[in-house]
Amino acid sequence: MKPRPAPIATSLGRSPTVALLDEAQRQKARGVQVFNLSGGEPDFPTPAHIVRPAVEALEAGFTHYTPSRGLPELRDAIAAKLLAENGITADPETDIVVTPSAKHGMFIALAGVIAPGDEVLVPSPAWVSYAPMITLLGGRPVDVPLDPSDQFTITEEQLTAAVTPRTRAILVNSPNNPTGRMLSPAEADAVTRVARAYDLSILADEIYEHIRYGGRSHVSLAAWPGGTGRTITVNGFSKSHAMTGWRLGYVAGPAAVMREVVKVQEHTVGCAASFVQRGALAAFTDESQVAVREMVASYDGRRRYVVDALNKMSGIACADPEGAFYVLPDISRLGFGSARECGAWLLEHAGVLVTPGSAFGPTVGQHVRLSFAASPETLATAIERLGTALAGRELTQAAAAVSPAAR
Ligand code: PMP
Ligand code: GLU
Repeated sequence: MKPRPAPIATSLGRSPTVALLDEAQRQKARGVQVFNLSGGEPDFPTPAHIVRPAVEALEAGFTHYTPSRGLPELRDAIAAKLLAENGITADPETDIVVTPSAKHGMFIALAGVIAPGDEVLVPSPAWVSYAPMITLLGGRPVDVPLDPSDQFTITEEQLTAAVTPRTRAILVNSPNNPTGRMLSPAEADAVTRVARAYDLSILADEIYEHIRYGGRSHVSLAAWPGGTGRTITVNGFSKSHAMTGWRLGYVAGPAAVMREVVKVQEHTVGCAASFVQRGALAAFTDESQVAVREMVASYDGRRRYVVDALNKMSGIACADPEGAFYVLPDISRLGFGSARECGAWLLEHAGVLVTPGSAFGPTVGQHVRLSFAASPETLATAIERLGTALAGRELTQAAAAVSPAAR
């Protein structure tokens, strides 16, 4: 008998961001040159001082299971970081779980708080995997569409309007993928007031925490009045430390919830990879702070270059991101039928891979997302090719618009 796929699995689409990253790798393997600005993949190698202890751990035979919550010394380092940088008090014994990726961290955190039929408010645009995770757990993702013309600001009114008796949690990502927006104090107030009024959990995805520009401060909802005691913070190493392939993250929250969350980890993966955790210990050193600062300074330069170059292109309006490493330009004046159509055209005519905004929510169906974590060379070539292709398209359209009679 053939295995019959489960309806809940077949109901999901592929992750658009991962599918595009896969596609770029396939094209590269076939020798086709594609300038990939789709996925959020830092071009930097993982800093050597993080790689070294992981290799040494492997060579020393540190290749067995660790406690399911993660290495005690790594949890200690995470607790110290959360206190010093975020003002979050987390007991390393009871409040922290080291996870194989922030993605899995978010999944088990959601598993720890929602029951089938529960609703989770997800202000959008939002990263592509939140809604499928909630759906897989039998919950219902409730899109709270934010207004691009209001800089995607989260308001108390909008959140309140989406609350029903089944609402259980609010999921917030700051700095945001894909908008680059960072939670302001007023928005943090709005989220925590609604959470308190309806006794909701908050899931705070802070994976881009270190990647921010213009001296902006990062708000951690777990340390915000009204957020403490009800917030589960999800974070990781992929973006800040250029460690996407290591698959390492962590979750911190109140002991009573984390007791349940760790069970999901135990029954799914057991623990994060042992030698990977040894390497990650070096991510909390002064040397790492310097490495992260240097990478962020480089992203900052790329940000200014990309925003400036895109805004010079006719028909494109690009807001300046406050954090993360994406831009989400409005392409509505280019006159494509959809962002997907625009993406396909850019791939065909410029060889540049971007992510259609529609992957992230209904209010950005006329936006595309470009990652500027690509190497400066890739970025410069891609931007030049986009400019040339779009200028050529404009000329063709202008010529077509001149009626034969007028010529
Ligand atoms: N959250 C957001 C907003 C992301 O963009 C990503 C990117 N992969 C993740 C979580 C997951 O990160 P990872 O699984 O690589 O730790
Ligand atoms: N988070 C990145 C992105 O949004 C990487 C791919 C993924 O895991 O979704 O492109």
